[in-house]
Amino acid sequence: MRVSESSAVSALPTSAESVAAPPEPRAAVKKNARAKETPTGLVRRARRMNRTLALAFPDAHCELDFTTPLELAVATILSAQCTDVRVNQTTPALFAKYRSAQDYAGADRAEMEEYIRPTGFFRNKTNSLIGLGQALVERYDGELPNTLEDLVTLPGIGRKTANVVLGNAFGVPGITVDTHFGRLVRRWNWTQEEDPVKVEHIVGALIERKEWTMLSHRVIFHGRRVCHARKPACGACVLAKDCPSYGAGPTDPATAAALIKGPETEHLLELVGL
Ligand code: SF4
Repeated sequence: MRVSESSAVSALPTSAESVAAPPEPRAAVKKNARAKETPTGLVRRARRMNRTLALAFPDAHCELDFTTPLELAVATILSAQCTDVRVNQTTPALFAKYRSAQDYAGADRAEMEEYIRPTGFFRNKTNSLIGLGQALVERYDGELPNTLEDLVTLPGIGRKTANVVLGNAFGVPGITVDTHFGRLVRRWNWTQEEDPVKVEHIVGALIERKEWTMLSHRVIFHGRRVCHARKPACGACVLAKDCPSYGAGPTDPATAAALIKGPETEHLLELVGL
């Protein structure tokens, strides 16, 4: 039965009621709205968030320094449990010394350990780098292969590293599910999966394939600069209106603005009118 306009109006609270009722917290309103979100609604929201992130971080990029696919694979292996800044401080000397897969395959273990010691877990990482060089020489004529299937068979290269290399050195779209990426897409309720491979497939179904590599950079940039694990800058966040976790961090604009990090801060604050 069609509800008449007059009965719909009479169902509205009086002005006295609306003043007396405490405002529902925005996070709760968002949560309720999200509970009813359809699969199509989720795709639209996810793509809208990706477009907003593109405006926020037009220069998002891989933050590891490299000039060849092999260098990127090595830098990504070294980035496990280590900051990109530290890796970038370590790799110039390493890359000058070890230029080819053959160089890694024939490396003196103790000498290589000294080069990569600052990145932590240097014994395991040395094993991976020497093993990687040997596998490349034995199976791929010393060249890094350019498919996910081949890359993940190499020592030290899991799915995450393979996607970084594919997306940034070979131009093949790839989704990089690191800790920031997984944390943020769960916060956004794109998925609640914890398994990185499942997250990769679910996000891959939401976002256009050509966007995968840049989406990965943008999400990781946002995680490092705005949506921190402990205190996300919700009150100064460009994604606030589409984020079901708005309110997980301070919503006061000035308090939130002070939490934003990085060279894009001024631009990010301008986008939200601060
Ligand atoms: S900072 Fe807050 S509003 Fe922005 S994406 Fe993170 S949780 Fe959501």
